[in-house]
Amino acid sequence: MKRNSSLKQDLEILRNTSKELKLIHGILSLLGWDQEVYMPSKGVLGRGKQTAFISELYHNKLISKELGNSIEKLEDNKDKLTRNDKSLLRNISHDYKKAVKIPSEVVKELAEIETISQKAWEKAKKESDFKSFAPYLSKILKLKLEICEKVGYKNSPYDVLLDDFEPYMTEEKLDKLFPKLREETIKILNKIKNNKINIVKKKINLSMPIDKQKQFTLLVLKKLGYDFGAGRRDEVEHPFTTWISANDVRITTHYYKEDFTKALSSSIHEGGHALYEQGRDKKILLTGLDEGISFGIHESQSRTWENFVGRSKYFWKYFLPKLKKLYPKFKSIQEKDLLLEINEVKPSLIRIYADEVTYNLHIIIRFEIEKDLIKGKIKVNDLPEVWNSKMKEYLGIKPKKDSEGVLQDVHWSCGKFGYFPTYSLGNLYAGQFFYKMKKDIPDLNKRIEKGDFACLLNWMREEIHKFGHIYTASEICKKITGKDLDAKYFVNYLNEKYGEMYGF
Ligand code: MG
Repeated sequence: MKRNSSLKQDLEILRNTSKELKLIHGILSLLGWDQEVYMPSKGVLGRGKQTAFISELYHNKLISKELGNSIEKLEDNKDKLTRNDKSLLRNISHDYKKAVKIPSEVVKELAEIETISQKAWEKAKKESDFKSFAPYLSKILKLKLEICEKVGYKNSPYDVLLDDFEPYMTEEKLDKLFPKLREETIKILNKIKNNKINIVKKKINLSMPIDKQKQFTLLVLKKLGYDFGAGRRDEVEHPFTTWISANDVRITTHYYKEDFTKALSSSIHEGGHALYEQGRDKKILLTGLDEGISFGIHESQSRTWENFVGRSKYFWKYFLPKLKKLYPKFKSIQEKDLLLEINEVKPSLIRIYADEVTYNLHIIIRFEIEKDLIKGKIKVNDLPEVWNSKMKEYLGIKPKKDSEGVLQDVHWSCGKFGYFPTYSLGNLYAGQFFYKMKKDIPDLNKRIEKGDFACLLNWMREEIHKFGHIYTASEICKKITGKDLDAKYFVNYLNEKYGEMYGF
């Protein structure tokens, strides 16, 4: 009897803490969103202090002794918990056990250096001067390695970093997935290169006034199911999505007058992230289960909408007439020309503009470099050379300057080692889920052609969104598809789509 009542108390502590953490998280997100969207530039110092204060509050709540004791007791009595409480315990315990091992001085030092380093990176990128950025990167790397050692690992220190973005993912698992993906990607690229069909790519002018782009992307987002009553859209330099609360999930866009497809695809991408967040079961709101499973699963949702749907001929069968009606200057654009334009496969230097086929090679290069860097096999100063030679080897092209090479991405400058692989994991999960979705909805393409996106969203809601973080990434993959994550589904998708386009 006594044990039961104490178990009840421990559960209360777990649930309450997770709710409070979630509330603080929403406040932090709002501060961050405002910083990117509306804050005047002189507000940066004050905002930095506010953010640091609230972050510390979050951290202290997470590492509280009271929570630690309850976690320990609940873990001894796991069998008595419901499925949701077990999952809640797993999530909070995962974060707690990591956070308590990292000394707060290291957290503080890292936060400070990351802010300065990001500024140094911006300047270095502008001037294409890696040397000026290298000392900052070395400092971050040193602190990250210290964290890896404090947290501890079984096989590789890189696992600690991966786990921040993709819980339970390991270098060993990626070493099984990525080489196959790389090999198959190169095969597809060769097939495209050697195809006998002469593809005449007509140059189309994609420029569109920004107010028209706003109207069109709004139309698309609404049609896909993004709820503007529980969100909003603003303009920023680099688009992102922010969860503030269950009924407040905001997206951002950047418009390029000369090419409407950029704002369109990033709107669909961010809309895909937001749809995931807007689709939670009400029963789990404001708990540690009310979140995406991992960066990879999150990215699978955005990429399904952006690429599998938004770059498909079925999507354009429905939307091209609407685009032409809204902007009659596009009336002569042929569907096949537009599809070739937005799906053209061509090795390029910049990851964010890469096509669906070559994209994963950009990621694999970063993954290989990161793990060697963490293991000390390569030094920070070697990065430009290693980068360039891998680009040459995998993509057949070499950047002329570091701003188009090793300095192109912000991630390392703010300590996000282990983040890149989640982009490709997103593609792979998307491939495997989409395969199952098409089995479950055999006339999916026909429905998309007719503008029925609700069937697709409902499938995602029922299979993925509503569960939040009840399941882990590998659990949900198995639950939906019956199989572990396998690159073959994504590879098959690429072969089918690009085979049809390039005639192989
Ligand atoms: Mg994304």
